[in-house]
Amino acid sequence: MTKPEIIKKVRKWAEILCCNEQDLEIVFKKFSKDENKDDGDFETVGYTVSNARYLKATIYFNTDRLKLINDETIVHEILHIKLAELTGYLYANEEKAKADQWKGYFEERFVSQMAKIITRKLS
Ligand SMILES: [Zn+2]
Repeated sequence: MTKPEIIKKVRKWAEILCCNEQDLEIVFKKFSKDENKDDGDFETVGYTVSNARYLKATIYFNTDRLKLINDETIVHEILHIKLAELTGYLYANEEKAKADQWKGYFEERFVSQMAKIITRKLS
């Protein structure tokens, strides 16, 4: 996808997923080694930083992998915004190791699963 297509799709999906009350910034950048958390057959195309308390979020897209971005990857990132409040609560109230485990595995798995379901139903 091109940058203008991605921006248009992010706005569209944010509205469908009731996330358009967020101050949502979209940033295109070349990812550093730390940002490229590739594992096996998964390549990092984007990630999201979200502040649930102040309804602000930024989605970063990897300019080296714009071709890999599709509706599912965009929905995946928006769903991270939806879960930011819960994840923030865990970090505030649970041991860091538990919160890391939630974020690194359960949140990732849940948004991946929901992104597939949503895009197959609504695309
Ligand atoms: Zn993710």
